[in-house]
Amino acid sequence: MSGPSLADEVLSVLPAILADKPLGATVAEVVIWLGVQPGFVREAFLDLDTAGRAKAVRRKGGRTLYLVPFDAAIMSCRNCYREFERPKKSRRQCCSRSCGIAWSWKNGDTRARRSEGIRAERATPQAKARAAAFNKRRWSRPGERERLAEQNRERWSDPVMRAKLSVGIQRANGTQERRKYYSDLRRRQWAEDEEYRTKTLAGMSAAKERMSEAMKRRWADPEYREKMSQIAVQRAAERRRAKRDAAARGSAA
Ligand SMILES: [Zn+2]
Repeated sequence: MSGPSLADEVLSVLPAILADKPLGATVAEVVIWLGVQPGFVREAFLDLDTAGRAKAVRRKGGRTLYLVPFDAAIMSCRNCYREFERPKKSRRQCCSRSCGIAWSWKNGDTRARRSEGIRAERATPQAKARAAAFNKRRWSRPGERERLAEQNRERWSDPVMRAKLSVGIQRANGTQERRKYYSDLRRRQWAEDEEYRTKTLAGMSAAKERMSEAMKRRWADPEYREKMSQIAVQRAAERRRAKRDAAARGSAA
């Protein structure tokens, strides 16, 4: 990948913003300058901070994240980016003990060493046997599967939890840049590579064919049809209940 990263661009407009806003550049400010989505700018702030090229800091009493030069005379907690005071001789990097612990987990080396330790422990035959026995017990308990499914549904219906889980999934899916790289690559291949195009199209129609065959087979089975119609009835009831609950919440507020 070539060209300046968003972090580079943010850094290049920082002096101009600081001339106007001595407290530092906010995400909103940079969005106006660069016309990029706030989420990306925020990520760039944190990247610059991690790389030591600038400091991301939340001023005392505020939640706004500012970007300031890396040599600004301000201590920003490595974990929560809150501003904090540090005694002269202290080398503390975090605002509190709990942030210190959280940060040491995030911190590459320490985290790698700890995870390595945990992984090694989990890989022992004893640990594997323990985990297998635990899973077996768990799945043989009546209602366990349903309980876990229910728990999952509940977690996803909570907006805060959903946001957290989505962030985790997005991280797992790779960074924006990586996703863009692959989508560009696919688009290029599609445009330039005749063989790739033919293969992809063939693959797509074969998959479609297989799916419709499987569908036909399944729907030919009366038991399957019966099950599906039951599920449809249940879903409709759930939707009605959700609507009723929402209406009740609305009238209570
Ligand atoms: Zn902190």
